[in-house]
Amino acid sequence: MSTQIVARTYQNLIDGRWVDAADGRTFERISPAHDVVVGRYPSAGVADLERAVAAARRAFDEGPWPMMPGVERARILNRVADAIRADADDLALIEALESGKPVTQARDEIVSSADLWEYAATLCRHTYGDTYNTLGSSMFGMVLREPVGVVGMITPWNFPLLIISQKLPFALAVGCTAVVKPAEITSGTTLRLAQMAQAAGLPDGVLNVITGPGREIGTPMAAHNDIDMISFTGSTDVGRRVIEASSGNLKKVELELGGKNPQLVFADADLDAALDAVVYGVYFNMGECCNSGSRLLVQRSIADEFIARVVERAKTVPVGDPLDPATKVGAIATDDQFNKIVELVDSGRAEGANLLLGGGRMDTERGRFMAPTVFGGVAPTMRIAREEIFGPVLSILTFDTAQEAAHIANSTPYGLSAGSGRAIWTRRWA
Ligand code: NAD
Repeated sequence: MSTQIVARTYQNLIDGRWVDAADGRTFERISPAHDVVVGRYPSAGVADLERAVAAARRAFDEGPWPMMPGVERARILNRVADAIRADADDLALIEALESGKPVTQARDEIVSSADLWEYAATLCRHTYGDTYNTLGSSMFGMVLREPVGVVGMITPWNFPLLIISQKLPFALAVGCTAVVKPAEITSGTTLRLAQMAQAAGLPDGVLNVITGPGREIGTPMAAHNDIDMISFTGSTDVGRRVIEASSGNLKKVELELGGKNPQLVFADADLDAALDAVVYGVYFNMGECCNSGSRLLVQRSIADEFIARVVERAKTVPVGDPLDPATKVGAIATDDQFNKIVELVDSGRAEGANLLLGGGRMDTERGRFMAPTVFGGVAPTMRIAREEIFGPVLSILTFDTAQEAAHIANSTPYGLSAGSGRAIWTRRWA
């Protein structure tokens, strides 16, 4: 298996050219499961950002991209979708090596990403507005939809190709141009995507990708006056900083941030189905998932029995080498992330929750693996009930009534989602 692991060297795409950082700086990505270098990247700075923004600005202001007939843009986006599918195995390998996620799950994401490019291609032909002919005999109103302009996109490390594919093809479909900064630890597939877009016929400057630290280039990107919109997916703290930085030119801001998502299980539910969903919902992608079902709210009358079943099922989840097709939970992405999880687990213990399973680092030759963890006896005020852990840790709370369940479910600072598939397990409304 280790024979597949090679260190790849990447360059940034600026104005149609593949380039190193202006000052020659680089950084490396190490596989969190294998402890070997898997990627070498330019460490872009502000000079690189300036060139990327200038290219995107020119490509938007002077065309041809925004003026191109939608059908031609659609052809290019469809070619990108085909290229993603054709290269799905290799893209999945890059994602698994850089993020630590199981390669089988990475492959599913790659295929979903191709679907998004295809869907966006259909929208190239659907950019229409509204008309108003009831304003009086001498008045006629029209709403035209126009591309926003240059869009800056900043993405996180947990679903690298999928998240950029939720942004980029849609902006391109309507004629926007883009400067993209992927998360520094998982930049590989975004750069591969840029190669595919270029080969598919995307004009120079329409897509620019720069890799490097968020603080150094992400904040100036959010502040840049020649960027008309920022689309950011990442943590709530950084999202707040993006809003602050973006106020200079009052650019449009789109944020997708963290979550502390509840799964509610009532006594009358199909408990076998709920069990599958709860365990999948929290351990999928190692729990490094914005909509991870990281809180289980279970009705008190079935709590003891259901919690025992959750613990038994969690013990069977295969944790290990992301390249092994049998693995369902891979490595934790970074040491920082690992330490954050451990710190929150420790806080759970200190605040009096019952550690029912896991809670620590697994004893492996290489990498950073966290045992699937379950806490019972969690109170809504505890940090493990309120803060996003972003790891394979389930916090279980109990409730008596539906009203109490709703109150607990809503008692965190987050509002991203509920459940992972289904939020409320009951037969009451079946
Ligand atoms: P992060 O906020 O640390 O980083 C996200 C991106 O922002 C990275 O590209 C990073 O380099 C950049 N960045 C860092 N500091 C910056 C700064 N000061 N200014 C501008 N950019 C900066 O998040 P992460 O650790 O990569 O991802 C995990 C977080 O993302 C979790 O909170 C998760 O819930 C969230 N997330 C949300 C969604 C969603 O759709 N709501 C999806 C995936 C992840």
